[in-house]
Amino acid sequence: MGNIFSMSTTPSNLLSLIQGCGSSALDVYLTFTNKVAFLAASQLRPPDTGRLLISNTTAVQSVGKDHPVANARYTAVHDGVSHHPLGAGSYIFKTDFPKAVLTYLNIYPKTEVATDQLFNRPRPRRLIVHIGAQPNNSPHAGTIITFALGFILARKLQRKYDDMGGGTGRLPLLTVSVSLDLVDTAPDAKKTIEKDGVAYQRSHRNTNAMKEFLPDYNELLERLSMFTGVPYTCTRQADLLKSKHIPKVLETILADHVRIGRELSPECDRIALRVACPVEDCGVAEKHGKLNQYHYTDGIPTVTFNCLHHGPHTSSLTPANIEKFELNTPLRNLVRGVANMLDTIETQGDVDGEERYHLRVTGADYAGMYQEQLFYRQINCLMKAILPECSQLPLPVICYAPLLTDWSGAKLSKSLYVKEGAYTYLEEQNKDYLLSYSKMKEMGKDPEVIFREVESWVDDPKRLFRHYSVEYFTRLFEQADEGNVRSQPAPVAAPTAPMPDNILSI
Ligand SMILES: [Zn+2]
Repeated sequence: MGNIFSMSTTPSNLLSLIQGCGSSALDVYLTFTNKVAFLAASQLRPPDTGRLLISNTTAVQSVGKDHPVANARYTAVHDGVSHHPLGAGSYIFKTDFPKAVLTYLNIYPKTEVATDQLFNRPRPRRLIVHIGAQPNNSPHAGTIITFALGFILARKLQRKYDDMGGGTGRLPLLTVSVSLDLVDTAPDAKKTIEKDGVAYQRSHRNTNAMKEFLPDYNELLERLSMFTGVPYTCTRQADLLKSKHIPKVLETILADHVRIGRELSPECDRIALRVACPVEDCGVAEKHGKLNQYHYTDGIPTVTFNCLHHGPHTSSLTPANIEKFELNTPLRNLVRGVANMLDTIETQGDVDGEERYHLRVTGADYAGMYQEQLFYRQINCLMKAILPECSQLPLPVICYAPLLTDWSGAKLSKSLYVKEGAYTYLEEQNKDYLLSYSKMKEMGKDPEVIFREVESWVDDPKRLFRHYSVEYFTRLFEQADEGNVRSQPAPVAAPTAPMPDNILSI
């Protein structure tokens, strides 16, 4: 990497500057702030000025095209104006999203009459907003967005409920908190091997590889709790599996594992249920459950698992064993969701304790067919088997956080899922702070810039039902660096009066 110089110029002056450099080879970047960064190349080459377009509206698209594709750099030019076109979710929820969420959770009074009859009860209520993470790296900006949405939405729901009369006698007291559910059963990528078409892994809780990153998660949670005033807890997979309803949920899944395996894992046709090898210092588990054998021992559901090194081992679904079970993401999503539904149903019938409600906040990549087929479709079958008499199910409520996308529209991803050297271009531009919380701190970038932005989405929900690019967020950080007291969302285009034929009926 050579020296980086930045300056302000216009596209027409830029061409003069490049031509004036003669044979000095330069990569050129033009950002939407009209700052131009010259990166001195390691080898001299003539500038490819043929690709420079000069006018007041277009500028550099690519320089140094003679380089291999992996080293080529591109830029786009835009006006910095962000649009939030209404459609689908943003159309329906644009004015009072918190009211809608409380309604779906069944804790918003439906009518005045219903209020008196149904809600004037002394029992306190608790709403738990669940967020989750596989802590295999320091949280990147996309994860921070999801966490921030969990906390800020929790605060918004608390305030909305209190404004309606929560705790004043008109409505019971409601406490909203956040729970970070850490998935320590995720595979440690460095310990995953494949043999004869079967994948074997060791999980994070087995290798403890995640301990390096947990301080960043703790610090982020603490900052968000201070920012919002919302309390939080942190759970691990063993906590989930120890919860009251899990044995019944798992028993029902095991009894129907052939169908559920086919639908939850269409590539393997098996449910991905694992138990780590019990041999000391081994801990290997078969990743996809391809070799699992399901049977009953004295009437108790039992699974025979297979270790790459030590062969088969057996675990029954007993209280002593249940914490050992590990579930892949779709199976865990299903088990957790059904357990939360059962928790809400049970606490509504418990006249002594608090009523508990659950809301999940997760990334928008889980929205759509994934959730419809792997979650809601399964809930219908499972609940009929578990509670056939229950006619009104408290169906799960999930809020999806906008994705942070790269230039192509793909979500900014954990290093686990992208090739080595991905996002090098962000590093070259000193924008790699978006890739990890630790880098953000190291480069003096305040994550509160993200908190404030997410806060603006919850306050103006039409901003919530869309995705945001890396360029959008780097601009917010640039504005913060330029001395703004707080970052300002990108300017919004003034809406024009819709023509009748532009209005879609919904
Ligand atoms: Zn083993």
